[in-house]
Amino acid sequence: MEKRDYYEILGVSKNASKEEIKKSYRKQALKFHPDKNPGDKKAEENFKEAAEAYEVLSNDEKRARYDRFGHSGMSGANGGFSGSGMTMDDIFSSFGDIFGDAFGGFGAFGGSRRGGKRVIKGTNLRVKVKLNLHEIANGAEKKIKVTKYDTCVACGGTGAADSNSMSTCSTCHGSGHVTRLTNTMLGQMQTASVCPSCGGEGKTITKKCTTCYGEGIVEKEDIIKINIPAGVAKGMQMTVSGKGNAPRRGGVNGDLLVVVDEEDHQDLIREGNDLIYNLFISIPDAILGTHVEVPTVDNNVKIKIEPGTQPGKILRLRGKGLPEVNGYGRGDLLVNVNVWIPKTMSREESKTVEKFRESESFVPKPDKDDKGFFERMRGYFE
Ligand SMILES: [Zn+2]
Ligand SMILES: [Zn+2]
Repeated sequence: MEKRDYYEILGVSKNASKEEIKKSYRKQALKFHPDKNPGDKKAEENFKEAAEAYEVLSNDEKRARYDRFGHSGMSGANGGFSGSGMTMDDIFSSFGDIFGDAFGGFGAFGGSRRGGKRVIKGTNLRVKVKLNLHEIANGAEKKIKVTKYDTCVACGGTGAADSNSMSTCSTCHGSGHVTRLTNTMLGQMQTASVCPSCGGEGKTITKKCTTCYGEGIVEKEDIIKINIPAGVAKGMQMTVSGKGNAPRRGGVNGDLLVVVDEEDHQDLIREGNDLIYNLFISIPDAILGTHVEVPTVDNNVKIKIEPGTQPGKILRLRGKGLPEVNGYGRGDLLVNVNVWIPKTMSREESKTVEKFRESESFVPKPDKDDKGFFERMRGYFE
């Protein structure tokens, strides 16, 4: 099916401000809200469509890409949006706050609706951890300090001052939803919606907890220990379930999303699971051969330079790269051999080199044995 234009969906102009877009989305979302349209597939489609449009147009970067490339700019791995794959839960956990007080405040829709009784889930926390190559090669245990919402200890997350200050909601009698009769084209229909008095909780608080002011959650600093497996790369995301924010007044915690970032190494360049080291040897060493030390992630290793080694030769040290993140196999260390050409010399040195100029062995010739150049040019690094 042809996708509709995002601006058209939200009913705003191309140069609408962020505020206009938000306002318009809120209007659409309330209109097609599933609690107002129970069992109405078309409304659900409209609701999802509006959320997708808002997801893109509320984000400067995505909006700019959409303006330039249209819908085709929205797919793919680079921050693409899988609109049709967005579940109702995703929409509520991403944009639940847009409904404000209209549907009982934040958190009211942050959960799953399976089995009738809603399980409320806290929002996810996202943190970035920067790892050096040593940590990436070996895996690392990191302690991350986060500020998050935690269940209020004083009231156990209920938000009530004590057990006597909670009472069953008189509007819904504890069920959390209300049913009403509405007139439709098909006649009178009974529809269920979230109880407006208790926001679906089934209980009302008569006296609020003084620590959390009735929210059931408090802001807290926490140190979270996470184990990062070896072989991770920049941009990878790990989910530590249950370590995100606690939801308001009971339910399950959100998740902690850990995004990996990499520190540059002073000598080694990462290319997938391979590492590249740029080695310089002297002219005599290239001619006569030698042994040199090259760095790996954890230590130095000695390698042999064969007599007559050409610059541009790549030596592959098997298994000296980074491990695969799934635990099988390791990349290689590629040593790119360069020959150092002096930029200044003494008069005496120049005279010595002058002698080599006339020497037959120093005349360049095509070297059939050294494949370094061709290997590189033919995508050796792929
Ligand atoms: Zn109620
Ligand atoms: Zn409390």
